[in-house]
Amino acid sequence: MDLDHEARRQQHLANDNWNDWRWQMANRIRTLEGLSEWVRPTDSEVLGIERTSARYQWHVTPYYASLMDVDDPSCPIRRQAIPARDELAPAAHDSTDPVGDTLFRKTNRIIHKYPDRVAFLVTDHCPVLCRFCTRKLHTTDHEGTYFEDAREAHLERDFEYLRNHVEIRDVLLTGGDPLSLSDRKLDNILGTLRSIPHVEIIRIGTRYPVLLPQRLTPELVSMIASHAPVWVNTHFNHPKELTREAIGACARLVDAGIPVGNQTVLLAGVNDDAETMMTLNQKLVQARVRPYYLYHCDSVEGVSHFQTSLETGHRIMQHLRTTTGFAVPRYIATTLAGKVSLEESNIQNVTTGPSGSIVTLTAPNLSTTEFHIRNESSPA
Ligand SMILES: *Cc1c(COP(=O)(O)O)cnc(C)c1O
Ligand code: SF4
Repeated sequence: MDLDHEARRQQHLANDNWNDWRWQMANRIRTLEGLSEWVRPTDSEVLGIERTSARYQWHVTPYYASLMDVDDPSCPIRRQAIPARDELAPAAHDSTDPVGDTLFRKTNRIIHKYPDRVAFLVTDHCPVLCRFCTRKLHTTDHEGTYFEDAREAHLERDFEYLRNHVEIRDVLLTGGDPLSLSDRKLDNILGTLRSIPHVEIIRIGTRYPVLLPQRLTPELVSMIASHAPVWVNTHFNHPKELTREAIGACARLVDAGIPVGNQTVLLAGVNDDAETMMTLNQKLVQARVRPYYLYHCDSVEGVSHFQTSLETGHRIMQHLRTTTGFAVPRYIATTLAGKVSLEESNIQNVTTGPSGSIVTLTAPNLSTTEFHIRNESSPA
C-alpha cells in the first residue's frame, strides 16, 4: 500500500464537495500533476499524455480517477481514461468517421440512418473523454466536432426536421453526453420532443452513471421520468465501474420507472476476457440494468488499438450464452449499412492482409457490407 497516495485519497474522499457533481465537473483532472494525486503514472503514460495533447483533449472526473489502481497501469479504468501513445499510430483502414455519421447527417445535429429513428447529437461535452470514443473527432479532437460553426446554436432547425418527418418514432439523444446539458435545457428538449405527436419514444445515451453518478440527482431523474416513456442506455465496460454510487444512480432511474439498458464496447486490455465480461453482465442484471449491445470496437483513428479479433468476441459470447438469457447482450458491428450482428452466420468472408482484416457481413437488408479490424498489436 502506498501511504502517500492512500492518505491523499482519504483526504479527497472526505471533501464535503465530493458528491456534488458541479464540484466534480469544475475540478476535472487535466494535467499530469493532477493525475499524480491518484496514481503513480508510468513513463509510457507520461509520454502518452505529452504526445497526444496537441491532437486530442483529455480530462477525467475526480470520481472516475478515484477508481484507478495506484500502481497497476493495466487497470481497466486507467486504460479507458489516460491518453496512450498508440492513439497517434493509426492503422491503414482507420477513419475519423467509419460509421458514416457525416454521411447520414440531415441537419447540424440529426443523424438519420435508420428509417424510423434518429440520433440527435445535442452536445459534444462529456464528463470524461474516453480514449476509445467512436465519436473521437466530435468529443476529443482539437480539430473540431461534427457541428457547424453554430455549435451553440439553438435547435429549431433540428426540431423542424423531426416535425417534418412523420416516420421518425424514436429519438435517441446522444453526443457527447446529453446529461452534460443543464436540467433546464434538457427539460426543454424533452418537452419539445414530447410535443411532436409521431415521436413515440425518447432514448438518452449517457455514460454519467459510470463516469459521474452524482449527476443523476433525484431532481434530474424525476424530470426525465416526467417525460415518459424515456429509455436510458448507459455504458459500463468493466465490473470495477459498478461501484455503490454507480449502482445507486441506476437504481434511482429504475425506481422512477425509467428502463435502463447497457452498451459495452469490447476493448483490448480492458474487458476482452470471458470471465470479466460474464461478471460485468451478471452484475448489471443484479443492478436491474439490461445488457443491450456489445460493440466490436470501430476502426476509428486514435481508437483502433483497442480492437480485438473476432475470435475473441465469439469466445466471449459463447461463454455469456451459458448464463441468464437476458444477461446476454447482442454482439454488434457498426457499418455504413448500419448495425450488423456479428453472429457467425452473418460473416460471409474474412480477408486478412498485412494491415488487418476486412470482414464481409450480411447487412440487415441482405446486401453485403464491410467491417475493418486492424491486426492485434501489443499496447505501447
Ligand atoms: C445506433 C443508432 C441508432 C439506434 O439503433 P438501435 O439498434 O435501435 O439501438 C439510431 N441512429 C443511429 C445513427 C445509430 O448509430
Ligand atoms: S462519454 Fe460517451 S461520447 Fe463521451 S467520450 Fe465517453 S464514450 Fe465518447
